[in-house]
Amino acid sequence: MATIPNATVSRLVTYLRILDRLEEDEVARTSSDHLAREAHVSAFQVRKDLAYFGRFGTRGAGYVVATLRRELMRILGLTRPYNVAIVGMGRLGEAVADYPKLERYDFRQLAAFDVDPDKVGRDVGGLVVRHVDELSEAVRELDIDIAFLTVPSSAAQGAADLLGEAGVEGILNFAPTVLDPPPDTYVEPVDFLAGLKRLSFYIQQPKLKEETA
Ligand code: NAD
Repeated sequence: MATIPNATVSRLVTYLRILDRLEEDEVARTSSDHLAREAHVSAFQVRKDLAYFGRFGTRGAGYVVATLRRELMRILGLTRPYNVAIVGMGRLGEAVADYPKLERYDFRQLAAFDVDPDKVGRDVGGLVVRHVDELSEAVRELDIDIAFLTVPSSAAQGAADLLGEAGVEGILNFAPTVLDPPPDTYVEPVDFLAGLKRLSFYIQQPKLKEETA
């Protein structure tokens, strides 16, 4: 398979969200024009993104929503369940534990960890917070695939290393620090502050936004 640009993967996630909505609204068929309008890209871009993975839809007749949605789920690896742990049960960890949409894609939150004795033992959204000392054993026992890392920056690399050693495949890193990924572990950063800084850049230099859009 050709190398897939990161931007394509991000757009596939957007197309899937659009298809979820269409399916909820019981719309049976769609087109690259419709997906393009909703995703704010060109229809050529939609077709190009999908073409990395094969041929979808019928020329002139568009796509069957259920089929394209199933294909995108397969491409994005979302047809399998993922067991998830949250490391760092502060304000963000608690908010993430309460996020209801995860189950739709079979992300199963099974464990939560913290170092703070006041937090250990508490029930947060149905998860009993465990001490991080139990992490390795619990990750193996519960077959955890993915961790949400919501610890302070200073603790992030250590926690990531611990998760990698325990066999976690992916880390969604919310801490504002660039992690050295543990071997065989994929790290995906989520940074709300970085988004604000990019926004600030484009607000003060609106011309640049026009040129790069
Ligand atoms: P917080 O201080 O409320 O919570 C952090 C928690 O991590 C605490 O409960 C603390 O006891 C725990 N902790 C510390 N070291 C640990 C370790 N080694 N193992 C397990 N748990 C440990 O902070 P918060 O507001 O919830 O923010 C958490 C992180 O997320 C910070 O790094 C913050 O900068 C970041 N953040 C990111 C975004 C984003 O958009 N990505 C938004 C808000 C906050």
